[in-house]
Amino acid sequence: MKILVLGGTGEARALARRLVGLGHQVITSLAGRTQDPILPEGEVRVGSFGGAEGLQAFVQSQGIDRLIDATHPYAAGMSANAVRAAADSGVPLLRLVRPAWREPADAPWTHVPDLAGAAAALPAGARVLLTTGHGGLQTLLARSDCQFLVRLIEPPAQPLPPHAKIMLSRPPYHLEGELALLEREAITHLVSKNSGGSQTADKLEAARQRRTNVIMVARPAYPPAREVADVEACVAALAG
Ligand code: NAP
Repeated sequence: MKILVLGGTGEARALARRLVGLGHQVITSLAGRTQDPILPEGEVRVGSFGGAEGLQAFVQSQGIDRLIDATHPYAAGMSANAVRAAADSGVPLLRLVRPAWREPADAPWTHVPDLAGAAAALPAGARVLLTTGHGGLQTLLARSDCQFLVRLIEPPAQPLPPHAKIMLSRPPYHLEGELALLEREAITHLVSKNSGGSQTADKLEAARQRRTNVIMVARPAYPPAREVADVEACVAALAG
């Protein structure tokens, strides 16, 4: 089959590798946000499609048999476009989405609907480890009465204000390092998306152990689609 994978995640790369191994023709689409992305196996195309219509046109012109949305759980725009493009083109869609992390019973999180909610939830004087990525940084950094350590994979486009410093690093992160980071920087609040997966989960266990407050930004809502939780379930669903 000719399969279009909407990518930008480790799962999308693992899926492409698996599908190429099974003899499928795979095109992975990347948004082009990352300067030096780790490229998946198979064919790769980079850049926006131009909305749901553009994606539908691509699917039809390329003769795509199956569409798989393996974007990040917070890539809500692309996931919504995938649902529309699949409906309008008649090409079956599968959504590969990591299960959300579970809140520990003994260390409740503060739940907020979005980054503005996270900014509002911080008390004055908080020392914050911010792990929500590039999007919406300014919303959080508007809180000049807090100190921020902003952990990113790539540097931000704009310089950060004096009450924020950057830490550039790439997952996976491990418990020992996360505990040491929270300790060394005297972090009082961790702001996180509920991305799920194992690569960045240890920050939450470190926060639990150190009794660091966790402010968890809710996953965005997107239109329903057939969902699978991992690569093997995706492969099985394609075969079925
Ligand atoms: P988004 O808000 O859903 O996407 C905004 C627009 O970017 C989409 O409407 C689409 O433009 C284009 N786009 C997004 N993903 C694309 C893809 N895989 N291929 C081609 N075009 C794409 O997405 P986002 O949150 O900016 O994320 C962008 C990419 O980064 C995604 O591929 C996602 O998997 C990855 N990522 C996101 C996060 C996160 O926290 N959001 C974290 C890690 C990785 P058009 O409508 O013009 O086609």
